[in-house]
Amino acid sequence: MFGVDQKNEVTIFPIQKQIKLTNKFMSDFDEMSDDHWMTTIDTPIKEFAFDISESDKIKKITFHFKKIMDVLGLDLQDESLKGTPERVAKMYVNELFSGLNPSSLPEMSLFPNNYRYNGMLVEKDIELYSICEHHFIPFVGKVHVAYIANENIIGLSKINRIVQHFANRPQVQERLTIQIVDKLKEVVKTDDVACVIEAKHLCVSMRGVKDSTSSTITAKYSGTFNETAVKEEFFKHINLESKFDI
Ligand SMILES: [Zn+2]
Repeated sequence: MFGVDQKNEVTIFPIQKQIKLTNKFMSDFDEMSDDHWMTTIDTPIKEFAFDISESDKIKKITFHFKKIMDVLGLDLQDESLKGTPERVAKMYVNELFSGLNPSSLPEMSLFPNNYRYNGMLVEKDIELYSICEHHFIPFVGKVHVAYIANENIIGLSKINRIVQHFANRPQVQERLTIQIVDKLKEVVKTDDVACVIEAKHLCVSMRGVKDSTSSTITAKYSGTFNETAVKEEFFKHINLESKFDI
């Protein structure tokens, strides 16, 4: 059964198998970080994070990534490796972590709700690629977003843009779910927004417990989406019932 979220907090479904970390060589710190704590709803960004230009960030990351590779013992003179530090730095700043910069969120123009459509609008199966902030490796999955419009609507692709913007940061799935809902509420000026994310975390499958079959589901409901009938309609649209079996 789905938990009804009275306090309007994010609900995390315990889909991941209960597997104890048995590797005795795994440090306490590593076990703690595997629990994926989220400390704040806002991404913890330093006060002067954007005082450095993007090109300076690329230069600095290139320098430090080179050091990491060097410490690992890699020969940076090798033709195949020598371009890697700069390639990684550009990928971090321009792509994978471009959503750290608030200016990367495109303009969200509103349109009047001329049809007076007051039903549910669901944008489902939005592709998700993000990076776990505890391990800096990807988590991938699907995002389902719904809202009930008041006076205004936004272009459908803007919902994908919001997802991409917040996914392009070092992230925690729970925070991502909340940030998507909060932004959509702000943009379309309605309280009635919901988001469900189902994702596979590579930090769970390719390392640590090495469980390649489990996935993690998070959900956040706001406004009328806390009502059972509305929530059920949303689940029906995104076909979650059959998948969840809980
Ligand atoms: Zn992780």
